[in-house]
Amino acid sequence: MLKKQKAKTSGKQRTSTSGLGKTILRIWSYLADHKSLMILVLLMVVASSALGLLGPFLIGWGIDEYFAAASTDGFIWLLVGLAAVYGLHSISLWLQSYWMIGIAQQTVYTMRKQLFTHFHKLPIDFFNKRQHGELMSRVTNDIENVSATLNSSVIQIFSSLLTLVGTLVVMIWLSPLLTLVTMIIVPLMFLGMKWITSRTGRLYKEQQRRLGEMNGYIEETISGQKIIKSFSQEPKVIEEFRVKNEQLKQSGYWAQTFTGFIPKLMNMLNNLSFTLVAAVGGYFALNGYVSIGTIVIFTEYSRQFTRPLNDLSNQFNTLLSAVAGADRVFDIIDTDEEAIDEKDAAALPDIKGKVEFKGVSFSYEKGGDTVSNLSFIAEPGQSVALVGPTGAGKSTIINLISRFYEPDSGIILIDDTDSRSITRRSLRMQMAFVLQDSFLFQGSIRDNIRYGRLDATDEEVEQAARAANAHSFITRMPAGYDTELSQDDAGISQGQKQLLSIARAILADPSILILDEATSSIDTITELKIQEALQKLLKGRTSFIIAHRLNTIKSADQIIVIDSGQIIEKGSHEELLEQKGFYHSLYTSQLEKKQLMNT
Ligand code: ATP
Repeated sequence: MLKKQKAKTSGKQRTSTSGLGKTILRIWSYLADHKSLMILVLLMVVASSALGLLGPFLIGWGIDEYFAAASTDGFIWLLVGLAAVYGLHSISLWLQSYWMIGIAQQTVYTMRKQLFTHFHKLPIDFFNKRQHGELMSRVTNDIENVSATLNSSVIQIFSSLLTLVGTLVVMIWLSPLLTLVTMIIVPLMFLGMKWITSRTGRLYKEQQRRLGEMNGYIEETISGQKIIKSFSQEPKVIEEFRVKNEQLKQSGYWAQTFTGFIPKLMNMLNNLSFTLVAAVGGYFALNGYVSIGTIVIFTEYSRQFTRPLNDLSNQFNTLLSAVAGADRVFDIIDTDEEAIDEKDAAALPDIKGKVEFKGVSFSYEKGGDTVSNLSFIAEPGQSVALVGPTGAGKSTIINLISRFYEPDSGIILIDDTDSRSITRRSLRMQMAFVLQDSFLFQGSIRDNIRYGRLDATDEEVEQAARAANAHSFITRMPAGYDTELSQDDAGISQGQKQLLSIARAILADPSILILDEATSSIDTITELKIQEALQKLLKGRTSFIIAHRLNTIKSADQIIVIDSGQIIEKGSHEELLEQKGFYHSLYTSQLEKKQLMNT
């Protein structure tokens, strides 16, 4: 049985994500990969929090010691001490942020790497079922969100917690009664915060989802521009975008609005606390219960006490937005990879190219078979045309030969070896594809042909282009082989694109060739060039051709006619015509149509 491998990340199995706590723990496990730096950051956080507490304490002490006692002896040392405390405080702040940025950038670097690498291990089906822009949004926006939060929030959360505890301890030590006064606002803060964050968490998740959706839509409409324009669907697309944009605006608006309440609420409660401490403290000082210095320390500490609470609540919101992003990233990392090869699967040696299907059945979804009980043999070097109505299962057979999917039952033999005992990579390395919508990458024509075999020399690339009848049109281009192609294939015709992909396949020199013939109408000269190039390419290779043109069907060694996932006829062109079955009627109807068009 083929084993499915669960995603592994940086050598450690990270727990699956469900719930806030688990996601935070999982993000933490990335930070823990940088233990020594994390320890340094934490030390600096402790130092800055302690120094932050020491400053006001020294001021209060100084007031009691020098002003209240009207003495200036050693006052200069107090000033030096204060300068040192605030100087070291700044240095520790700078260091912690410097190191934390390093950790954060390394963490998101690792996440991006894992996500991108994992993309390339996922089955083809995964991409068929998802919007590409939405997936791209996860690598960019969602990870960026995590990065922004890690840069600032981790430090902030630690230092806020430390400052909170430290302030509380000193305040209790100075005056338990005044501490109690300061604490009156805490339950109010807690309740307010809970009310706000229970709403924002949901809204941030929603915002990330909507952003992903919108990116998906933008990507789709940019790559589908030609279709949109040719069907004059611009108004519809603009309207659909408006709706998505509106939804994103709404979720962003509410998330930000609720978040915006936090500082206002905190400020109000802060002022309330300050007033209370000043009033009660003033009363105590007048009655001689506490010194003026203690009141100064206290008013400053009451601010220091509410500030970390304020910061914590602000960070909590940013954290929620990062968790929403991280969840979407982990979702993909946790998706099962393409089934990995059997444990004892071996690399395929150079093959002759025999392909045999023995009782192969397969379905994409549970339910009825997409193809059922397929049996046929393609001898080495034979060309096999797959013919049949749309949706019959021709591409599915190709998907099975290339092992993008595995049969539910039956076996596929390559050179008489069960394909399951062969590694996928070694099989695909002996195959090449010439598809209708051949994909050209951003880069030069030379690079695009060289994609067939990366170590090919410039001469080999040129030879392949000559064999593919592509050389003459390439040399007519402004920069010849160095002409840059853009992803949208601007400046290159459909036929030329096909010639380039034939050149790419010639260079790859595969034993098995998959050819999805172009249906688009190409001028007769280019078509002849393509036919000629194809004949050269097919020579000596086992080829599977999803045939749309009668010429290729006629010259194929074997024609397999498929209907509703089953082979209904098999044989050469002449044999099938003699049978006067499905193929015969298909052929004669196409012939009649052609004659009709010629008259
Ligand atoms: P065409 O000539 O139109 O390309 P085809 O003969 O190549 O058609 P297939 O693409 O093999 O037909 O499709 C066979 C059946 O499987 C169709 O009913 C199709 O809807 C279904 N199908 C194809 N790909 C998938 C997929 N990824 N997931 C689910 N069903 C699929």
